[in-house]
Amino acid sequence: MKTKKSRTTQGNFLTMSFGLVIILCLCLVVIMQNCGTKAITTKAPIEEVKAEYAKLTPVELKCDLSNLSVTDKKVLIRLIEASKIIDSLFLLQVSRDNPLILAELKESKDPNDQIYLDMFNVMFGPWNELDANKPFLNDKPKPLGAGFYPEDMTKEEFQDFITKNPDKKEALEGGFTVVKREKDQLVAVPYHEEYPEMVNRVVELLKSAAELTSDASLKKYLQIRAEDFLTDNYFNSDMAWLDLNGNLEIVIGPYEVYEDALFSYKTAYESFICVVDHVESQKLATVADYLIDMQSNLPMPAEYKKSSRGLSSPIKVVQEAFSAGDTKAGIQTTAFNLPNDEKVREAKGSKKVMLKNIAEAKYEKCWVPIVNLILAEKPLKNVTFEAYFNHVLMHEISHGLGPGMITLSDGTQTTVSKELKDLYPTIEECKADVLGIYEYVFLMNKNVFPKDQKYSAFASYLGGMFRSIRFGIDEAHGGGVAIQFNYFIEKGAFIVDGKGKLDLDEKKLDAAIASLAEQLLIIEAKGDYAAAKSLIDKYRVMTPLMSQIIEKLKHLPVDIRPIYPEIN
Ligand code: ZN
Repeated sequence: MKTKKSRTTQGNFLTMSFGLVIILCLCLVVIMQNCGTKAITTKAPIEEVKAEYAKLTPVELKCDLSNLSVTDKKVLIRLIEASKIIDSLFLLQVSRDNPLILAELKESKDPNDQIYLDMFNVMFGPWNELDANKPFLNDKPKPLGAGFYPEDMTKEEFQDFITKNPDKKEALEGGFTVVKREKDQLVAVPYHEEYPEMVNRVVELLKSAAELTSDASLKKYLQIRAEDFLTDNYFNSDMAWLDLNGNLEIVIGPYEVYEDALFSYKTAYESFICVVDHVESQKLATVADYLIDMQSNLPMPAEYKKSSRGLSSPIKVVQEAFSAGDTKAGIQTTAFNLPNDEKVREAKGSKKVMLKNIAEAKYEKCWVPIVNLILAEKPLKNVTFEAYFNHVLMHEISHGLGPGMITLSDGTQTTVSKELKDLYPTIEECKADVLGIYEYVFLMNKNVFPKDQKYSAFASYLGGMFRSIRFGIDEAHGGGVAIQFNYFIEKGAFIVDGKGKLDLDEKKLDAAIASLAEQLLIIEAKGDYAAAKSLIDKYRVMTPLMSQIIEKLKHLPVDIRPIYPEIN
């Protein structure tokens, strides 16, 4: 049991009574102020918000529940309930102002506010992820540190404080703490103490789902995960998660650090509630048998190639029945590779999960319309869902390849993400894309995938780039793709033909993929922040060519807005 952290100090009776008078007066002032205070001060023009919202095309997700037992469905319903709390937790992580804004939108009698509410619900806050986080409510830029740090705290203040208080470094930089300012001190508050009521409710629901399920692996995961929510040490449940072997594939907890644009330290709550596609999963498991081969095939000097990462790497294909929090905000996830904890990866490896119903919906609604407009005839004729889906798979596999824990030249043991800091997400996403296509071709040569898929793979790789770049190049995935696109254009591997359409040179692309992969891997192996910065400064730029192409796509949907299946 945890109680809410008290931050008041105790005094004797006299000072307490005196204090009480002051508190009462203060309360009155606060109440009076609140009556006139609005959480929403300004709104972007309604037509603009409608147009942005329309960029996400609604899709009723297909999810086959026919193999599930009555108990499985009951378990799903409880986990979906827990996930709705995850939504509320994430909303607070994005901004502490969010609950007030949401309440005001919900209570509004103005029918015009519906679209602002819809947009707010999709974005988990007043910032439009599709337009570089431009605010559509209140003209206030999104704080880099979201709701994880004091809004006015600078990087310098944080780093200075840690230099002066090295004993507080671990807690302040920790992935599961919120940083607050108390007088001139920065303090780290663990998530379970910062959000006690919601965390406790999630724990209850996980425990009750664990009691219900007859799937022993899921029971174990849910029981341990429930305990871990109360300590914010997720190691044991992350290990148990890798062993799930039933009909349901469940992820629930704080994982990704994308929301912390200040340091990429703080993890955001999310959940994936999915049903396993056993037939497809078995097909792809074959790929996992080649992990050691893929690791030794990495295009980098042998001295950096050794990896102590565990290479148990289950791959699952699933259908998403519900998602929540970080992963649901804005753009939908097609696949993920978890856990991110390097200690778990070293001990056991990581698991890739492919969300096939999401991938199919995106391919049909967003991907095909783009390639129809931008690709030259030959690559256009060769794009396929299979090649697209396989590259997504190989992207996820590639997150688990290459350096993780590293040793710096001075002997310091650290991780790539700690060293590359804010640049890490962009470099890592770029690496996963480039290695993804590199290892895809490698597996064709091993006859895991048909050899004649190579041109298709390259065509689909090129065709898919502008789907990511459209999301903006400041975001990790879009930024990573901008690096690849500009690099390949520079090397003559991507070409613009006479009609302004994109084409590719297979031979040059082969070489350029290997050389870019090598640069990225060496940056990671050395934890070289300066080299990461210069690569990003040079290639993560919006060129006139890219702007022209994006302009052509303006009227197309950017992503899907899933409508989840009813489960009863
Ligand atoms: Zn990725």
